[in-house]
Amino acid sequence: MSYFRALDPFPLESAEFSKLHEFYTRLGQGRLSTTRCARCGRVAWPPRGFCPECAGDEFGWVDLPSEGTVHAFTVQETGLPAGFAGPRVFAVVTVGGQRVFTVLLDADPARLAIGQRVRLTPLAVADDPQGNPRWLPAFTPSA
Ligand SMILES: [Zn+2]
Repeated sequence: MSYFRALDPFPLESAEFSKLHEFYTRLGQGRLSTTRCARCGRVAWPPRGFCPECAGDEFGWVDLPSEGTVHAFTVQETGLPAGFAGPRVFAVVTVGGQRVFTVLLDADPARLAIGQRVRLTPLAVADDPQGNPRWLPAFTPSA
């Protein structure tokens, strides 16, 4: 799909701007991951470089499962940004106990339901300003 950087929700994710950039590297490998606080062990979503539980700022990475279930969804049929084909299905997916806001790909809104099983399908978007590949989390309904 075509994609416009002006609409980029994560424009400064590369290593020189964010210590959380590994999230995207892992996503490009087909792994949805997040951070675990090295001090208290809390797993957070979205990935965080600072723990709201214990104020620690050291963390490690943990992979979440590649399958989840739809907790909620909504369908955008009009007013889509340029370059986005409609209708667009936005969803909150429960995966590994975390609730992840994401888009659903290849999802027929008329056949979607709460509890639908979905599989991680990372979405390739425009390269970052240094030419590194970039990905966003996305899911596709499972059979
Ligand atoms: Zn902590």
